[in-house]
Order: sequence, then structure tokens, then C-alpha cells
Amino acid sequence: MLPTEIIIRKRDGGKLTADEIAAFVRGYLRDEWTDYQAAALLMAVFCRGMDFEETAALTREMMHSGETYDLADFGRTVDKHSTGGVGDKVSLILAPLAAACGVVVPMVSGRGLGHTGGTLDKLESIPGFRVRLETPEFLRVLRKLGVAMIGQSDNFVPADRRLYALRDVTGTVESIPLICASILSKKVASGAHALVMDVKTGTGAFMATLDKSRALAKGLRGVADALGRPVRALLTDMNQPLGRMVGNSIEVAESVDCLRGGGPHDLRELTIEQAAEMILLAGAEPTADAARDRATRALDSGAAWDKFRAMVAEQGGDVSVVDNPSRLDVAPGRKDFVAPASGWMEVRDCRAIGVAAGVLGAGRLRTTDAVDPGVGLEMLARVGDRVEAGQPLVRVVHRDGRGLEECLARLAGALGVSAEPVAVPPLIHERMG
Ligand code: URA
Repeated sequence: MLPTEIIIRKRDGGKLTADEIAAFVRGYLRDEWTDYQAAALLMAVFCRGMDFEETAALTREMMHSGETYDLADFGRTVDKHSTGGVGDKVSLILAPLAAACGVVVPMVSGRGLGHTGGTLDKLESIPGFRVRLETPEFLRVLRKLGVAMIGQSDNFVPADRRLYALRDVTGTVESIPLICASILSKKVASGAHALVMDVKTGTGAFMATLDKSRALAKGLRGVADALGRPVRALLTDMNQPLGRMVGNSIEVAESVDCLRGGGPHDLRELTIEQAAEMILLAGAEPTADAARDRATRALDSGAAWDKFRAMVAEQGGDVSVVDNPSRLDVAPGRKDFVAPASGWMEVRDCRAIGVAAGVLGAGRLRTTDAVDPGVGLEMLARVGDRVEAGQPLVRVVHRDGRGLEECLARLAGALGVSAEPVAVPPLIHERMG
């Protein structure tokens, strides 16, 4: 099957067969398809879409591109995935929290994609932390602690690792079938029996409108159902960064704060809600209230923090650094972005905040770029806050001024001050499942 024929069929709005999809995924992994041919097909899918059958076939093919884990003897395992946002560090807190509540969590995460941060990049800002575990080690950590956090590797969902990186640099991220296949191939291959999906909605999400986010949630649920994995989805707000920090080390420090019972209210609330969903899916509590109480107790008693420390130690990370987050690599430069007028804070474009952090070095422009763990943004005000002219709204954490000018320009486009009070968006817009 010639790549060009498959590309042309999708370009012209045709439906691909399972064999054609297999030819693409396998051919790309074997380097029989070039990057530019794969990128052309991704763009055709982006523009023309894929129906349910095509999406399920792509998910299955990607899932079987490497080894898959059979976790039948672990009981009912539950994983969570976010469709991507700015300042979204929930997974770092949630995985150990759910494990502290008795849920087995084989968490497979991604790297920064587009304007969004990635859990793996954040975890790697802890010195020594290894996100690439060989299978026996992954299973050993999971058995010992009930949680392990890993990424794709050469032999685990390699198709997603390569396609995810290619989409990141070819403007093909915001596609419902591609997002569904990317997320579910990893999640099902990791052996998760049930899934919580945090589907972001708003200007900082891949799906900016509630309608598109609903369509993504439905797509994820439909394909997951076809693969025999129950899903509960939350449609959560991404019209401003989650919590205060946007970056890598500084997000780890904020997560540690939350794991120790502190942290910003929105981050804590959303993490507890998602933990409750995971506890329900695991069947560990009968009602949402009981699940929420259990998660709150595990956070406040220090049980989730103990689990996180143990996971850091098992995965090679330096526990003394998470015990004392001031030892994380945080760049020394500081510059405040101030309110241009008095009024009420608004975020016009949350995506541009993610891009502003990216140009400092917190994200990647090319797949081969290294991420600077130490740079980022600290949000000093939230949507709807009353602010005065000259008041700092964002503290930019930069390294030797790299990207600073562009970052400030992006922030000027992203943030505004309204003369009228601004409505505060809800944290959770809808629940599904
Ligand atoms: N997260 C993923 O794992 N893949 C996507 O395509 C988007 C978000």
C-alpha cells in the first residue's frame, strides 16, 4: 500500500480501512514512511477527521505498536489523563493520592505538547527521577506502592511517542481522533481497567469551546467503551492556569505544597474531585461523598505525601530535594508583569500564557529541544480579582533574560484589566459518565 494513496484518500475525505491505518502506523515505525508523509496524513486527518471505526482502529494499532501490560492480578487498576492544559500539575498529586486511598494507579503520562506542560517533564525536574522504567521495574514499583508514573518508551506505545512528537511540531494537535487515539492507546496498553478523563475546556485547552470539549469527551468514552474500559469524564476549566505556577520545577514545588496539605484552592479541589472519581471507578467507596471524604483525609493526613516520597525514591529521584523544594533547579531571574490599569483581572487567551512560559524555555519549539526545568511563570492574580494599576500580575522566572522580551509581549496579549467586574469561570463545567 503506497503512503501517497492513503494520504490522498484521507485528503479527499475518504474513510481509511483498518489495513490502511495499520500500514501507516507500522510503516512509520519501520521508517518506510518519512516524517513528511506521516505529517501529511496527520494534517489530512486533522482537516477531514476520522469516524468512530477509524479512530478505534488507529487506537488499537498504536496500542499494539509495542508491549502491553496485563495487570489482571493487580485487581481493578484506574488511571487518569488530562487532555492538556496550562499549569495542570494535578497528576503529580493525584496518582499518589489515589494510591494512598487504595487504588492501583499505573500512570502513563506525556511530555509538554504545544503550549501545554507535560507531567514527564515536570517529574524529570526532580534530580534522578526516571520516567523510563523497564517492564519488570514498572511492575515491581506498582506492586510495592500501588503507583508508578512512566512515559512511552521505545517498546511501550512507540507509535504514540513518535506521532505525539510529530504532531507537536506540525500543527496537528487539536484533532479529536488523534487525541483519542494518543491518550487511549497509552492508557489501555498500560493495563488500566478504568479511566478518569479530565477534558479541559477554554482558551488554554486544545478544545476551546464547551461543544468541542463535549465532543472530545464523547469520542474518548466511545472508543474506551469499545475497548472495554469504563470512563468517567470531567469537563474542567482551562480559561486560566490551574494553580499559581506554570513551568516545571516550580510546578513540582507547588505540587509538594498541595501534597503537604497546602497549595492553591483550585488545584486542591480539582485533585480531590478526580481522586474521588478514581476511587468510585475502583469500587473502593460506594458514593461520591464517601470517596471525596476519603481523598480529603488521605491528603490532610500526609498519607498521599508519604506515597509521593516513596514513589520518588523507588523511581530514582532525590527525596531530599522534594523534602526541601527550595533545592529544585529554579532560575534566578525575576521580572514582574504589572497591571496596565486598575480594574478586574481577565485572561483573554490562556493559551498565550502557556506559550509565554514556553518561550522562556519551559516548553519545546522542536521535538529535539531540551526543556529548562527552572523557568516559568507565577500567576499573582486570578480572573475576577480586583487589581490596581502597576500591581504585579505575573512574576516571570527567567534564565539570563532568555525569551524574556517575547514572554512579556505574549503576556500583554494574554492578560487584560476590565473596567467592569469579570465573571469567574467554574472549576468543573460538566461531568459525564
Ligand atoms: N494528551 C495526550 O496524551 N495526547 C494528546 O494528543 C493530547 C493530550
